[in-house]
Amino acid sequence: MSPASPDRAAFRDFVARHRRFLLTTHINPDGDGLGSEAAMALWLAAQGKEARVLNDSVVPPAFAFLARHAPFESFEVEVAEQRFGAADALIVLDTSNRQRIGRLAPVIDRFPIPVAVVDHHVSHARGFGQVNVIEPEASATGEILYDLILEDGATITPEIAEALYVALMTDTGSFRYSNTDTHAHRMAAELLTHGLDPQRLHAQVHSHASAGRLRFFGEVLSALELRADGRLVVLEASPEHFQRHGLAGADTDGLVDLPRTIAGVEVVALFSEVEPGKVKVSLRSTGRVSIDQVCSRLGGGGHVHAAGVLLRGSRADARARVLPELEALIAALGPAGAERGGSAAATGARAGSR
Ligand code: 5GP
Ligand code: MN
Repeated sequence: MSPASPDRAAFRDFVARHRRFLLTTHINPDGDGLGSEAAMALWLAAQGKEARVLNDSVVPPAFAFLARHAPFESFEVEVAEQRFGAADALIVLDTSNRQRIGRLAPVIDRFPIPVAVVDHHVSHARGFGQVNVIEPEASATGEILYDLILEDGATITPEIAEALYVALMTDTGSFRYSNTDTHAHRMAAELLTHGLDPQRLHAQVHSHASAGRLRFFGEVLSALELRADGRLVVLEASPEHFQRHGLAGADTDGLVDLPRTIAGVEVVALFSEVEPGKVKVSLRSTGRVSIDQVCSRLGGGGHVHAAGVLLRGSRADARARVLPELEALIAALGPAGAERGGSAAATGARAGSR
């Protein structure tokens, strides 16, 4: 998207017109959501504006270091009412879906402050803000913020560089997903000139697993099912799995990505029963099948090659709603063994993962 984009101009105007900002991102926030919040908060502070961060969920330990530069809080009714009462604008980062900001969504109805959305998810509806900068071709929301900061002539400080690098690194799967293009690499290279240590940042983000988490991965992976001539991998996780390995939440982050490495796989589906009767479906494509529509039809969303949805009912119900559609999409590719990844690469399609 060019600097001349009317949405970007409207966003710049939105920032100029307000002074006390509240920032938020999606539930179960990731490196892009949290890194974008930290960068945005720092950029606003550098302009002499107030910025607070309030999310539905707590910051996972892997990203706690991002919170040292910005006031991060997680949802409590009284805190939310105070923060909304004190803010004159809300900026929503890394989701354009109102439900995805969790318990903050109903608070907006009671405190109708103006909203701006900055996001890179495939959006079948307009965002819910008065201003919506939605650029699905961006590999990360942090990449859009990076452009906005540079277009503004503002300074990328080492702290902003660190936050944006974490956003970019995590959403590109450490620069290996199909959304990793020349712009993403140029941005990474430029950010490194601010003195970042990529090895340290990578370790900080990826060295927080417990032994139980790996045993849990092992148990789920050893039961993986191959369907559709080995082109569809199905994984299931249950509340008993989480309990048995001492996992506090239903932390499956990264699990669904692993079977993509199996030769010949087109799609991976993880059915994770996060609590009895609530199944989180995570889908990944290795490049030829677009799976975002499968999730958006069921009320979820995501990107062309990585999408998700939360369904009520049993794991068997969720499978019945999702697997036939995936099998039909895979069957439409023709016989197994056709060259992998060809069509997406040939059309230059950029598909984000997060
Ligand atoms: P994951 O499977 O890693 O949770 O999510 C993959 C992608 O799908 C991410 O971009 C995420 O934002 C999106 N996604 C996951 N679950 C949902 C959901 O319930 N609703 C929507 N709209 N998007 C989702
Ligand atoms: Mn993102």
